Amino acid sequence: MPARHPLPPSLYAETARPAAATPPLDGDARAAVAIVGAGFTGLSAALHLAEQGTDVVVLEAHEPGWGASGRNGGQVNPGLKHDPDKVERDFGPELGARMVAFAWAAPAFLFSLVRRHGIDCAASQTGTLRAAVRTADAAGLRATHAQCARRGRPVELLDRAGVREATGTDRYCLALLDRSGGHVNPLSLARGLAGAAMRAGARVHGGTPVRHLRRDGTHWLLETPHGTLRADAVLLAGNAYTDDLWPGLRRSVVPVASGIAASAPLPPDLAAAIMPSRAALYELGAITLYYRLDEANRLLMGGRSRQSEVLRPDQLTALAAAAERLWPRLRGLRWTHGWNGKVAITTDHYPHIHEPAPGLFACLGYNGRGVALATALGPQLARRVLGGAGAAIDMPVTGVRPIPLHGLWRSAIAASTVYDRLRDAFSR
Ligand SMILES: Cc1cc2nc3c(=O)[nH]c(=O)nc-3n(C[C@H](O)[C@H](O)[C@H](O)COP(=O)(O)OP(=O)(O)OC[C@H]3O[C@@H](n4cnc5c(N)ncnc54)[C@H](O)[C@@H]3O)c2cc1C
Repeated sequence: MPARHPLPPSLYAETARPAAATPPLDGDARAAVAIVGAGFTGLSAALHLAEQGTDVVVLEAHEPGWGASGRNGGQVNPGLKHDPDKVERDFGPELGARMVAFAWAAPAFLFSLVRRHGIDCAASQTGTLRAAVRTADAAGLRATHAQCARRGRPVELLDRAGVREATGTDRYCLALLDRSGGHVNPLSLARGLAGAAMRAGARVHGGTPVRHLRRDGTHWLLETPHGTLRADAVLLAGNAYTDDLWPGLRRSVVPVASGIAASAPLPPDLAAAIMPSRAALYELGAITLYYRLDEANRLLMGGRSRQSEVLRPDQLTALAAAAERLWPRLRGLRWTHGWNGKVAITTDHYPHIHEPAPGLFACLGYNGRGVALATALGPQLARRVLGGAGAAIDMPVTGVRPIPLHGLWRSAIAASTVYDRLRDAFSR
């Protein structure tokens, strides 16, 4: 892990609430729980541990929210990637049903946490739209809707006219609207969670890459450039930025770049015409396009990006072009920011929680759905780490499974992106 890097030049870096001071760890410290990584996973777990009186220290290589948590689309999406029936088939009716209930309730958890701690993060519970372009995806959405309805989940299907009314575009033949979803300024949320965790008693150290992790007698020892931390338990929360601290963990997910282009604020009448519902939308299909309007009427378009770092909007011209295809009135719109980050993909598309050694935990692999899920997993991870009667959580805990031929995945992803683009272009 290289030394501290500044935040990428994202819109959020300019608009987010100020960060609290998180000085590097200096000297030798002791804690009940050490957390590596200050994104939503690490910070929400730290907050919920500290609220229960646990002495917790978070070590972050850069600053809270530096990873995916401070650069994502801000979409607070309900549910897991898979439909409820499949989750229950994969994990059985008891655990599967708890996973489904947990994941669909994750946005409600996030918005209530934001209210409880007064986190100023432009939270907007204006709904999530899963939108289908192709009839095959529409059939999938109907199945999702039926499965949600059977479980009493209040989601609505919007036909082409309904989606047009919500989004101002004719592109979609069907969409599933879940009013519990919405969006946030994610860097503000990460900073707000860091502040809330610190007020609850957690210590958060930025600029503190953990270089080595090892068992030392009855404790875990974490070594950083200017100090060490001894802890009874450790939670690894590096997601797509996971390194080689624990054997095989980095290779259990595939990091895939996703990019976002943000526009200058739109005039109110144009904003109302292109996204009257102000919901967050993501498309089903091979290339996920996701977008929303923020509180200043800027359009944030997200999708696949090149794997190397993106620093400017002209490096994401495909996203601007996609916006113009959706709403031809946007031709000539000024794009002010462009950036990217890494999403952690798992081969089964479920998030993974591991306990590879006594007192050592890891949670990663949200498959682009971590805003709500990682935040809502905070109290669950806190319970699991504390153990005892509350240790049964609403997600499976498995062994670390490194992906075979992991090194080849990067080029495979680049190739599949090209393939997906071609397939998308030919099927329009
Ligand atoms: C461009 C983009 C758009 C996305 N859009 C959405 C969206 O709209 N909705 C959604 O739900 N999800 C979205 N996601 C996914 C979502 O952002 C992630 O699932 C979520 O933020 C994961 O949080 P995390 O805390 O697990 O990891 P991260 O936020 O990535 O945090 C991991 C942290 O660990 C630190 N770290 C790693 N190793 C070490 C070490 N050895 N020592 C110290 N620190 C270390 C890193 O510096 C990093 O800050 C998007 C992701 C990207 C990149």
